[in-house]
Amino acid sequence: MTRSARPLRARIHLDAIRHNYRHAKSHTPHARALAVVKANAYGHGAVAVAQALAAEADGFAVACVEEALELRESGIRGRMVLLEGVFSPDELALVDQAELALVVHNHTQLAWLLAAAPSRPLEVWIKLDTGMHRVGFAPSEFHAVNAQLAACPHIGARVAMTHFARADETAHPYTAAQLATFEHAVSGAQIGRSLANSAAVLAWPAAQGDWTRPGIMLYGVSPFVAGDPHAATPALRPAMTLESAVIAVRELAAGEPVGYGGRFVCTRPTRVGVVAIGYADGYPRHARNGTQVAVNGQLTRLIGRVSMDMITVDLTDCGAVQLGDPVELWGQTVAARAVAEASDTIAYQLFTGLGRRVPRLYD
Ligand code: PLP
Repeated sequence: MTRSARPLRARIHLDAIRHNYRHAKSHTPHARALAVVKANAYGHGAVAVAQALAAEADGFAVACVEEALELRESGIRGRMVLLEGVFSPDELALVDQAELALVVHNHTQLAWLLAAAPSRPLEVWIKLDTGMHRVGFAPSEFHAVNAQLAACPHIGARVAMTHFARADETAHPYTAAQLATFEHAVSGAQIGRSLANSAAVLAWPAAQGDWTRPGIMLYGVSPFVAGDPHAATPALRPAMTLESAVIAVRELAAGEPVGYGGRFVCTRPTRVGVVAIGYADGYPRHARNGTQVAVNGQLTRLIGRVSMDMITVDLTDCGAVQLGDPVELWGQTVAARAVAEASDTIAYQLFTGLGRRVPRLYD
């Protein structure tokens, strides 16, 4: 494909991801950690991220068979868990061939697994619904499900797992209640345990279990809700810098509107910079006037509506700015979280929503 002249790119810092993975491990010294690389490693590029972690990760978690096969085809070996528990009976042959581990969360799937004829013992993660109320067996069903799997000669290792709904709110009692429900459900079973997402890795040591599942923290973003006492996570390094450049400059008088719908009206003589990124690239259409942007390393603000391929920013206080000068949308100077909060979303959505036409450059 011809290389676009557009200056937009996402720089992915693989060292930062390795550092963040080690940080997750240092918080949970008794557990092994599955690096969560589903959704194209939260938009960072699953193959590159998995290769960067391959020498040290205890395993990987993806959502579905396609994601797992992409990684296997690129040479990623070792434990790989299909986290979302969505698979069809037809896919069991692929799961077997590719040596994947499955999450099972209902009786239909359980019946498929018991009736399967894999070439090697299948690893199964039994998902319990302890309070998220999306998928999972009732905690009271655990021992019966576990016993059926244990008695089945073609089922190998088993892990009991659950997922927290509110681990990012560390003052809220819900996580402790989920943890207690889980512990009670699995008590007495000789089985591995897996509970912790990033927030639990960092703030809920009692939930470390045998396997953690850090996702967003690998990419350098605090998993906690704004205002939570744990929200600042200075030890994490942002893994993505989204950058572009100024492609036009306008001098506008006070009273002039900017962009679609005239949603921003200059209150003073204003130098407006036009930057090559828009909602078709994944920049949030709902980013408010005032969302942080950095031009030449200096913080300034978004003004006007986000267009499909462009945004407009206030350069009035940015000194001399030339066409082609660098703009950071998020990464080092601008926190992805700050952009997310100014757009009523979360960094997970910003990262996973980055479009195909944003080249990922790895360092
Ligand atoms: N475990 C499960 C079951 C998940 O669905 C996810 C992400 O959605 C994770 C772990 C990772 O969560 P986080 O990115 O908050 O660490």
